[in-house]
Amino acid sequence: MTELINPCPVTEPVIFDTHAHYDDERFKEIKDLFPFLKSHGVGGIITCGCDVQSSRDALSIAEKYDFVYSAAGIHPENLENGTDQYEIEKLCKKDKCVAVGEIGLDYYWHDDNKPLQKQTFSEQLMLANRLGMPVIVHDRDAHADMLEILKEYKPKGVVHSFSGSPEMADEIIKLGMYIGVGGVITFKNARKLPEVVKRIPQERILLETDAPYLTPAPYRSKINHSAMIYLTAQKIAEIKQIPTDFVLKTTFDNARKLFGI
Ligand SMILES: [Zn+2]
Repeated sequence: MTELINPCPVTEPVIFDTHAHYDDERFKEIKDLFPFLKSHGVGGIITCGCDVQSSRDALSIAEKYDFVYSAAGIHPENLENGTDQYEIEKLCKKDKCVAVGEIGLDYYWHDDNKPLQKQTFSEQLMLANRLGMPVIVHDRDAHADMLEILKEYKPKGVVHSFSGSPEMADEIIKLGMYIGVGGVITFKNARKLPEVVKRIPQERILLETDAPYLTPAPYRSKINHSAMIYLTAQKIAEIKQIPTDFVLKTTFDNARKLFGI
């Protein structure tokens, strides 16, 4: 049985996790997972799809719990599962689906299909713009192409688990988008991220887990979940020299504003 660590001392709903994968196999064996999260500080969750099937699964989880929402999209690592926009569009039109995601470019795992990645990403940005929905963007080792495409389509949304430079963060913010910050900020090898967090205004930061991945320190070997965001908020508070509850409150408000919740 997977044991859940709870680092969050607050029981009221103060955490908004804007990026998780609760359709993941690893969560299936955890009993009463969502009641646990709700009683440990979590007030909002967006669980993201990565292909048509996981987008359907994400929606059905969201439809079961009032504080959970979903996103539907085709992740750049999953293009071999099909790039059919029609099913994604149908899911996006459901009440509990609040974003198109996660979508984007990933040249770390595959750099032999860049044209297909760019095309699928662009199509989904157009879909989001047409539906008036925000996007949840994945960018790994593709910063230059990413910026070029975002500048072209100007979607509203967030670049999740941001890994770019402080200068790129400035560009993203100029486009009116948000920067997603997760457990990586607590890692010793967080590289440029502390500098990015220090520099960007609090009203453009969203908190996220990418659960079950990227668990914050000191629990990196454990499964990640939304209450773990407390550790990420504490680290941001330390970097920006502001109180942790202010980080939680502002990022909660930011999430509600962007996703219209
Ligand atoms: Zn993700």
